[in-house]
Amino acid sequence: MSALTHLTVTEAIKGLENKEFSAVELTQTHIKAIENHRHLNAFITETPELALKQAAESDKRRAAGTAGALDGIPMAIKDLFCTKNVRTTAASHILENFVPAYESTVTRNLFNQGAVMLGKTSLDEFAMGSSNTTSYFGNVINPWKKSGGSNVDLTPGGSSGGSAAALAARLCMGSTGTDTGGSIRQPAGFCGITGIKPTYGRCSRWGIVAFASSLDQAGVFGRSVEDTALMLKSMAGYDPKDSTSADLEVPDWPSLSKQSVKGLKIGIPKEYRMDGMPEEIEKLWQKGITGLKDSGAEIIDVSLPHTKYALPTYYIIAPAEASSNLARYDGVRYGLRVEGKDLNDTYENTRAAGFGDEVKRRIMIGTYVLSAGYYDAYYIKAQKVRRLILQDFENVFTQCDALLTPTAPSAAFAIGENEDDPIKMYLNDVFTVPANLAGLPGISVPAGLDANGLPLGLQIIGKAWDEETVFRVAYAIEQAANFTSLPEMVTRSAA
Ligand code: GLN
Repeated sequence: MSALTHLTVTEAIKGLENKEFSAVELTQTHIKAIENHRHLNAFITETPELALKQAAESDKRRAAGTAGALDGIPMAIKDLFCTKNVRTTAASHILENFVPAYESTVTRNLFNQGAVMLGKTSLDEFAMGSSNTTSYFGNVINPWKKSGGSNVDLTPGGSSGGSAAALAARLCMGSTGTDTGGSIRQPAGFCGITGIKPTYGRCSRWGIVAFASSLDQAGVFGRSVEDTALMLKSMAGYDPKDSTSADLEVPDWPSLSKQSVKGLKIGIPKEYRMDGMPEEIEKLWQKGITGLKDSGAEIIDVSLPHTKYALPTYYIIAPAEASSNLARYDGVRYGLRVEGKDLNDTYENTRAAGFGDEVKRRIMIGTYVLSAGYYDAYYIKAQKVRRLILQDFENVFTQCDALLTPTAPSAAFAIGENEDDPIKMYLNDVFTVPANLAGLPGISVPAGLDANGLPLGLQIIGKAWDEETVFRVAYAIEQAANFTSLPEMVTRSAA
């Protein structure tokens, strides 16, 4: 049966269509896999009963000839998407017992296409982090280990680490994520899977617990470029409930993604060649360049001169928006309440007990940069630099169709590493943050292993609304890299 957990979504749909197995069987197999891998701590809430009910309904729809695009596909949902009547925690103590009365638009769209929900995956608290270690529910363990029999637990990356680990460990066939500064692409890189953040506005943010509203965007993890294209197509689309969602047709990405890259111009931004970057990453990048050249793309050198300001700009804007968004957790309207002697005291007690250290740090930074004396010096300045970063991209996209860069400056690191210094942790986002500041689509594709046998990803950044080209280039990289490695844990359990 374990063969069922190794299929891609596309293969599983064929199997369901050909009656090789049922959605209930497919779901049961994944529920078992989740039970057998609880030590990874990928899920905060498992929803096996709901999954089996959805799977049974899916089988009926398929028999009646009314199946949707993802009918019967078992997926995991980042616990930042509100799910009706299913606890949604944002991995925070403050929302530990929050059960939404509504469904996020993205999960509703997935369910409308027949997707099955296996459970809610862990993340850094309120999606703030790059290692999944700030989750109130404990860290998530990456299914990959360094080669040579190492038993050191590695982080799956963050913030969508639970979703990435669950997919890499074959506990689901696809999973949702959100990406504010790299939270889909970096964990995809660390876990050897594909992950896309579409253009800001492609997916509705309605019903997603807000972190930094001008940067947050939903996206998806898949085992192949085609799978991510298929799932993203079901998630995306205009939603009148989100004023920043775009009223644009959703293209048929799964079929468009396989077009040749012949004649496309791919830019290599020189500012992404960072000092101290491991040589293996540079080599992998070169391999990607060669692969694209061999597929008929033209490679050009480009410059994004304001890249070096992206990280400091992000770490002003994101905390500023977070401090405002998180003001709603006051012990009155949602979640935890710790009573005090008066209202102010209750606010203080609730927030002191409910938020973890990283969230408090962001709220403090955000409140500071928005305060009367510092607003112009920090927040307004950051907004201006953000504009310059966007202009950099607009300029290079007059010369090329997409950009190729590494996804992150390192492979997965050990749990606990980088914890002593927040700046070191923030450096993880150096290659991913610019696309969020500019609202552009970005994907990470697994492209090779480092000397320790850990996966490394390459990132493709595209023009706004041009996910099509991003998928095409990603598909070409996927073909060229032919990344078939699996975590040892997975090969062992499949044997
Ligand atoms: N690591 C980044 C941060 O901590 C990005 C997080 C995200 O994309 N949600 O802010």
